[in-house]
Amino acid sequence: MTEAAMRGLMMDDYQLSLTAVIERAGQFSAARKVVSRRPDGTIHRTTLGACVQRARQLSSALRALGIRDGDRVATLLWNQPEHLELYFGVPLMGAVIHTVNPRLHRDELAFIVGDAEDRVVVVDESLLPVLDSFRADHRFEHVIVVSRSGSLPEGTLDYDVLLSAAGPMSWPELSEGQASAMCYTSGTTGRPKGVVYSHRALVLHSLVAALPDQMGLSSRDTILPVVPMFHVNAWGIPYIAAFSGAALVLPGPKLDAVSVLDLLADEKVTMTAGVPTVWMAVLQALDAEPGRWDLSALERLIVGGSAVPRSMLEGFDRHGLTVVQAWGMTETSPLGSVNRLAADLFDAGAEEQYEYRARQGIPSPFVEIRARGEDGELIPWDDSAMGELEVRGPWVAASYHHGLGADRFTDDGWFKTGDVVKLDARGCIRICDRSKDLVKSGGEWISSVDLENHLMAHSAVAEAAVIAIPDERWGERPMAVVVLNEGGHATAEELCSHLSGQFAKWQVPERVEFVESIPRTATGKFKKLALRERFAADTTAAAVSSGTS
Ligand code: ADP
Repeated sequence: MTEAAMRGLMMDDYQLSLTAVIERAGQFSAARKVVSRRPDGTIHRTTLGACVQRARQLSSALRALGIRDGDRVATLLWNQPEHLELYFGVPLMGAVIHTVNPRLHRDELAFIVGDAEDRVVVVDESLLPVLDSFRADHRFEHVIVVSRSGSLPEGTLDYDVLLSAAGPMSWPELSEGQASAMCYTSGTTGRPKGVVYSHRALVLHSLVAALPDQMGLSSRDTILPVVPMFHVNAWGIPYIAAFSGAALVLPGPKLDAVSVLDLLADEKVTMTAGVPTVWMAVLQALDAEPGRWDLSALERLIVGGSAVPRSMLEGFDRHGLTVVQAWGMTETSPLGSVNRLAADLFDAGAEEQYEYRARQGIPSPFVEIRARGEDGELIPWDDSAMGELEVRGPWVAASYHHGLGADRFTDDGWFKTGDVVKLDARGCIRICDRSKDLVKSGGEWISSVDLENHLMAHSAVAEAAVIAIPDERWGERPMAVVVLNEGGHATAEELCSHLSGQFAKWQVPERVEFVESIPRTATGKFKKLALRERFAADTTAAAVSSGTS
């Protein structure tokens, strides 16, 4: 502030901590339902108020075990009410919740709990084998088990017993810059790195995410996060729901299409959110049995985490359901952009609207964007130049835990996303690829995402991943790995000619491999690295054998 500027006389030292969000929920939205499906399929019903009350008991119980300010508490849990209690109770006592993804490899699990220096772990009994797989490598001071069977492994503590013995904590005042939660990047770009969220970041994230043109949430909503609570704070939904006074439906571990559809219908869910993989399966189930589920309450599905193919937007529209695409990263809490139709397209034709909706949207309020081309210069917003997206904002990481990955942050305070994008004149983001997934053929870039989206628009195709394969002449060539629909038939030639309608000849892959399934990362994304390793090796072998024949 310059000396001449007049000082505002407001309470600018009011701390934006999650305490205000959760206490408000406990006070004013106490009766809102929190419904959960247990791993055995039974339905558990409670309220937001009861969860807040139990979170106070949890804080006391953890304090009694010696957990202090800044200590990390790990979770190995599904989307279940105890996880919500930890989301509330751990940060509000001043400690840090570290949600661990049970689908990671044991070596990664051992690495991240060690890197985070987790003192305690709270584990669902169904995930005890996961804990056992890496426990020898990290000494937790306490293992707390959420148990329904009543049989606890030796040396562990019972979650419910701990809570029932503890009085409610009156939460301390916290500073907004304090750490509240930790998540690790999925490691698709090297060793997992810890992202440490502050209270302030998650409060502002919740405020903005609830806005009408973002997730659009209010006390009238019932939200079912399919996105796991161990993945980027379930996109912030537990806090956004508490902030808005929305009801929550927690689906537990069963995320097959029928289980998800049953819950959406039975609980009259208004908004749901998750990665495209889940919705692909849900769409197939809806197509197979239209009319089986009453989804009249469902207003929108927020879909992100990887590109949403246009065929998915069209597919759900056929069932009267609206898919809204969002883009984000672990490092951006995760909300970066939401695709709500641009005002100038309200009256546009279907073609133009789909073309826009298949993009990632304009940045959320407070998220600033720019993109830098290969030459290091910022690219124009002309929908044609390609560059790596850089972002900054109040819920974007400023560094990683232990100062790792410093090269991802620019000297002037922006985070380099690794996503290669085009930006149109409105500022609407179009993700062309992760920088490492782009195909560079004959010096020209080919977007694997575009090819995948068009392949998935073919009626016989369930899933398609496009990868770069080394090529002597062109450097790299695109190759398609395709899973056909049940009963679907298509030859490689048919799929290539399907693409030829949309792509230049040199962009169309000449090699198509049909597989049973595409390997996925722990967060449901195509494991392109594994595909590249598998098929690049094939190419070398083929080249060698043809060379010797
Ligand atoms: P990681 O970066 O470790 O793979 P994240 O879950 O943080 O794990 O993934 C963030 C990445 O996911 C983004 O950088 C982007 O590449 C991809 N992504 C997220 N949302 C979208 C989307 N709507 N369209 C295309 N890609 C997306």
